Amino acid sequence: MIRFENVTKRYPDGTTAVHDLSLEVAEGELVTLVGPSGCGKTTTMKMVNRLIEPSSGRILLDGEDISAVDPVELRRRIGYVIQQVGLFPHKTVLENTATVPYLLGWSKAERRERAAELLQLVGLDPARYGDRYPDQLSGGQRQRVGVARALAADPPVLLMDEPFGAVDPVVREHLQTEFLKLQSTLHKTVLFVTHDIEEAVRLGDRIAVYGDGRIEQFDPPAKVLGAP
Ligand code: ADP
Ligand code: ADP
Repeated sequence: MIRFENVTKRYPDGTTAVHDLSLEVAEGELVTLVGPSGCGKTTTMKMVNRLIEPSSGRILLDGEDISAVDPVELRRRIGYVIQQVGLFPHKTVLENTATVPYLLGWSKAERRERAAELLQLVGLDPARYGDRYPDQLSGGQRQRVGVARALAADPPVLLMDEPFGAVDPVVREHLQTEFLKLQSTLHKTVLFVTHDIEEAVRLGDRIAVYGDGRIEQFDPPAKVLGAP
């Protein structure tokens, strides 16, 4: 479903952030990328939705080279959730959730209906929270909106970059549990970045352990934990 073929990313200043990466994520699989800060995880993610372009190699989505896919079409196919979720401060929760449908030209009624459905899905009552602004939410609630927004156009692929990294441990565990529940019904193809090995092991069907722009290990949780 997502396939990296010998992907290298060198930034203009000469930093090689990702080095000859080959990786395949199966349809419906949740792969966690784990490793210390600065080892190339975010760079890897950003290449998938073309926020940055590889220096060499290619990335295929469903067999199609993404360098040939229109960026708006990529937004429809790929939901993206980041740590500082980047909600529009002057848009309500409903409007923020409907960002991609808005870009895709859905009617206002369709957007509201879809946004309400998604908020319900991530555990936020749309009647209570839908017309609030992001600064009227807790950190955990904002991350829920971020997840809802990423799911808005029902993309087959989700990129999640430390989505639960900025909330306290109790809330994080709760969000992890709910995300696993969601994933067990939605079966998205997910790349999930974290620097927390416990989170990586808890969520991942397989775990890509990063070190310095390379994958050092790519295995299911039991194997990463060293079980025989
Ligand atoms: P991670 O997500 O694992 O923390 P990143 O992908 O953000 O790692 O960064 C990998 C490496 O690339 C780091 O050495 C970082 O400093 C460098 N890097 C990231 N973005 C840029 C950039 N725009 N220009 C130059 N170097 C960058
Ligand atoms: P219209 O449907 O005529 O654009 P709206 O009240 O829906 O009217 O939107 C007013 C403005 O707010 C729009 O021009 C657009 O810039 C912005 N906007 C509305 N909904 C969204 C959304 N879901 N995401 C991002 N921007 C939005």
